[in-house]
Amino acid sequence: MSAQKIAELMRDAARLEPGHVWLAGAGPGDPGMVTLDVANALGQAEVVVYDALVDRRILALAEQAELVYAGKRGGQPSPTQEDITAKLIAFARAGRRVLRLKGGDPFVFGRGGEEAVTLAAAGIPFRILPGMTSALGALAAAGIPATMRGINRAVTLATGHAVGTDEDLDWAALARTGQPVVVYMGLKNLPRIAEALTDAGMPAETPAAVIASATTGSERIAVATVSTIADEASRQGIEAPALIVIGHIVSMREKLRGGGA
Ligand code: SAH
Repeated sequence: MSAQKIAELMRDAARLEPGHVWLAGAGPGDPGMVTLDVANALGQAEVVVYDALVDRRILALAEQAELVYAGKRGGQPSPTQEDITAKLIAFARAGRRVLRLKGGDPFVFGRGGEEAVTLAAAGIPFRILPGMTSALGALAAAGIPATMRGINRAVTLATGHAVGTDEDLDWAALARTGQPVVVYMGLKNLPRIAEALTDAGMPAETPAAVIASATTGSERIAVATVSTIADEASRQGIEAPALIVIGHIVSMREKLRGGGA
């Protein structure tokens, strides 16, 4: 598709108006996974408030914009959610075209929901531009179908962030579904997650994978079983950002890799 064809396609796309905020998702990592709407918005934005995990090459599409970093920096605590939404509101009230750019999809474990609620309460006009959530991009790119006839009829997207807290998930209930689970933000708690699943009766030989820095040049994938994946990932020195996939869909990777690109 030529650049001109893309420009034609986007001619009737919405305009980012002064004083408006668009909450957008940049996809899993690879710039090729940015939607046309998000690329178009980057070209119109005057301020881009972005998180960690957004590729520099994607930000470079915002040629005219002031870039404001809202993620963690060098071990420092990240700015609070209130700080970030206060910034978005202040930029919008100053009449600027504001793009809030997050990794993956803004509404999947990205606090985009909270930001949208605050913008709505403040009377700031906003719009959501979906992105490909990292789980779906990572699985597909790794040759693991999120759903596969004969293997699963559901897939759960879970967070591993709350393990051991009052807000923790009922991992036993997830294990009982017999359906695969994809865990965001779970690498640190992987031993406990795997144990909770196997304690609940998930067979120890259930295939499992950790996919780190999915779709980027530094992608790493470890494949093992639910009972060995934590050791395997640490043996291989796998680091965040990473997704954990537990379930029989993981076994498809071997088959698909043979025929893959
Ligand atoms: N809104 C994002 C998720 C934000 S939470 C989305 O829809 O994808 C951050 C977590 O996402 C990370 O801890 C990791 O679990 C996952 N993640 C994001 N990008 C990733 C990538 N390229 N590879 C592996 N995991 C990723």
